[in-house]
Amino acid sequence: MKVLKFGGASIKDANSLKQIAQIIKATKGPKAVVLSAFNGITDKLQGFISRISTRRLNTKHIHRFISDLKNHHLLFLRYPLPRNNGHDKNAIDNHCRELERLLYGLTYIKEVSERWQDLILSFGERLSVVVASEILSQIGVHTKAVESDKIGLLTDGYFGKASAILPIARNNLRKNLLPLIKRNIVPVITGFFGVDKQGRTTTFGRGGSDYSAGIVSYALDADCLEIWKDVDGFMSANPALISHAQLIKQLSYKEAVELSYFGSTVLHPKTVEPVLLKNIPIIIRNTFSPDGKGTVIHYYKPTKANKPIIKGITYETNIGLIKVHGFGAGFGYKTEVIHEITERLLAKNINIKTIISAPSGIGLILGREDFESGYKVLDEIRQGGLTGIVSGFEKIKNRALIGTIGEGATKTKGLAARVFRTLSAISVNIEMISAGASSSAGYFIINQKDLKKTVRTLYKEFFN
Ligand code: ASP
Ligand code: MG
Repeated sequence: MKVLKFGGASIKDANSLKQIAQIIKATKGPKAVVLSAFNGITDKLQGFISRISTRRLNTKHIHRFISDLKNHHLLFLRYPLPRNNGHDKNAIDNHCRELERLLYGLTYIKEVSERWQDLILSFGERLSVVVASEILSQIGVHTKAVESDKIGLLTDGYFGKASAILPIARNNLRKNLLPLIKRNIVPVITGFFGVDKQGRTTTFGRGGSDYSAGIVSYALDADCLEIWKDVDGFMSANPALISHAQLIKQLSYKEAVELSYFGSTVLHPKTVEPVLLKNIPIIIRNTFSPDGKGTVIHYYKPTKANKPIIKGITYETNIGLIKVHGFGAGFGYKTEVIHEITERLLAKNINIKTIISAPSGIGLILGREDFESGYKVLDEIRQGGLTGIVSGFEKIKNRALIGTIGEGATKTKGLAARVFRTLSAISVNIEMISAGASSSAGYFIINQKDLKKTVRTLYKEFFN
């Protein structure tokens, strides 16, 4: 059993969708397909949502938005002049009508809660599976468009950042998908969202269709998950900075997570969670160059033969740093500080991307999107119970995090010294370091203005 996932960047126009259909058709054996919304559609939906709460919209705006959305999807269907039986146009009409009604209601009350935001965003995928499944049937592949929230892909209910409740989701998916697959029907399943216990649609966050594909692979005990992108696979560095960066042929699960968590957008890092439980290999492949070998992500132990230790250099600028300053050096003994910080952030569902702590201070790295709200929550602590322990919180912007990733990196003698020597030679100051927590990654923070030269110099040091 194979699961194939295609992302929005691979579904740009009717031609690319046709290409995808051919890849699916050429894949032998039982299979299931997971799709993202078409290129740019989730952004469009998101853009419209923000207009609802910030601007006056009238029925004309909504009508135009819906008719553009519908036409955009129908354009894919008209190619190459299909014998359209009208059936799928109806499904598109129905989705568009439902979305239109939803938008009318929300525009009337001028407010979009997280719950409705998630529901609106899910329409990109609902439309894409209908169109793709029609294109597939035109070339003789039996398919069925499947909405993940209708087949019980159960989530924990956190809007915008949900996780799957795996055992229950697995049972429900098996019950709904296996009978189709047994009859040689390829389910074309919406990525990006599931449904919570109360029946509410919940998304996994932007880029979350990869994770959906991981869940489907786990549920169906897939032999392999193929993630089809518009790039060849993971690269040893961002080609935008390092033009001669190389394709990485294989990665361990851990290395892939470390590369994806900060910086690389090749794979949603959560994808690995469900597939890891069953050791299902992930292969990243290029839709527009399907003969390439791509990157294989699987369980493997590095040997002398498959060195080098550093496989990739990654960086992230989409972060904010909050420094927690304490009174005196006694700070480190006060266990309640970290407890209080994490509890308060958790209550607001704010994720700490990484934490670096010392007796007189703590550094918290948050995603850019959580930075201001995270600071606000923390500043309330200062005014509340922890006076006398925490002297203040400092917001620091314009920092970049750089990661050196490779299985065994933190167990390799002299590696950190090599990084620091390299940076000191170009006078780049390292403001914070985190190493050792993961056996396969070391991270450090520098001023964003030094980013390019730092990445280029490190690359030269480790790859030339
Ligand atoms: N369509 C969603 C997004 O653009 C999910 C995905 O593409 O994976 O974020
Ligand atoms: Mg997308």
